[in-house]
Amino acid sequence: MKKLSLFLSLLITFVACSKTEKPTNTPALNTERLIEDIQFISSDMTQGRLVGTEGNRYAREYIVGRFNEIGIEPYGDDYEHPFEFTRRNGDKRTGVNVIGIDQGTSDSVIVITAHYDHLGVRDSLIYNGADDNASGTAGLIAIMDYFSKTEQNHTLIFAALDGEEGGLRGARALVQDSVLMDKVVLNINMDMIAQNDKNELYAVGTYHYPQLKPVLENVITGDVSLLFGHDTPEDGNQDWTSQSDHYPFHEMGIPFIYFGVEDHEYYHKATDEFETIPQEFYKSSVQVILNAVLEFDKR
Ligand SMILES: [Zn+2]
Repeated sequence: MKKLSLFLSLLITFVACSKTEKPTNTPALNTERLIEDIQFISSDMTQGRLVGTEGNRYAREYIVGRFNEIGIEPYGDDYEHPFEFTRRNGDKRTGVNVIGIDQGTSDSVIVITAHYDHLGVRDSLIYNGADDNASGTAGLIAIMDYFSKTEQNHTLIFAALDGEEGGLRGARALVQDSVLMDKVVLNINMDMIAQNDKNELYAVGTYHYPQLKPVLENVITGDVSLLFGHDTPEDGNQDWTSQSDHYPFHEMGIPFIYFGVEDHEYYHKATDEFETIPQEFYKSSVQVILNAVLEFDKR
């Protein structure tokens, strides 16, 4: 009798625990690693990450290391996808995209992109590009880490792109992959998602793809104001439709949402450094983008 009641009480405890513990099985965004990642990627070690340079390669090795550590499957034989391009002055250069794939229950693909290259060193000043775009790159890694621990409907491609500065080269190389492009239903691009003193983040693209707006209106945003705009012809040079890696997707008629902040005093300056990043806003911003991916994944 005693044994039976012990068994019963254990059983009850087990059932009760498994019920209450379920939410803890949902992975959480690893914001500590997020901060470590943005700090390393934008450190002086990577020398501003100009495409084709040693510093850029050093940043890429770190990114590949994180893809490996998370255990995401390489897209193709290898994470690294080199591509050639010709600069305006006729010089040939090689860039390298870093790409992983997380198979979902469906073959429909959402491509998540962020460029890791930046402006390099100019007049012996290192352009660290903490917001532009170590922020998006570390965000991409954090979101990838999250999905590596859970199931989702869509197949997710995580692409850390090279050669964005001066021509969206990495994105242009990626969209050449017609086998992939046939399955892509959405591009989510992150470029400058950390630097804002009003807790404002833009979701750009709903002017072109109004069907995406109700999805975004469902996203839990916490203390972040998720704003629409910067995507109409009337916005002039503040129309961001063609200004980052989502543009080659848009040119092919693939819907995109680009997440980014308003231009700021550090934009394309050597002062765009880790120390200037408002960390609480940055963490919230990545959480909002993750929530958006989760919301799109339900559709
Ligand atoms: Zn950028």
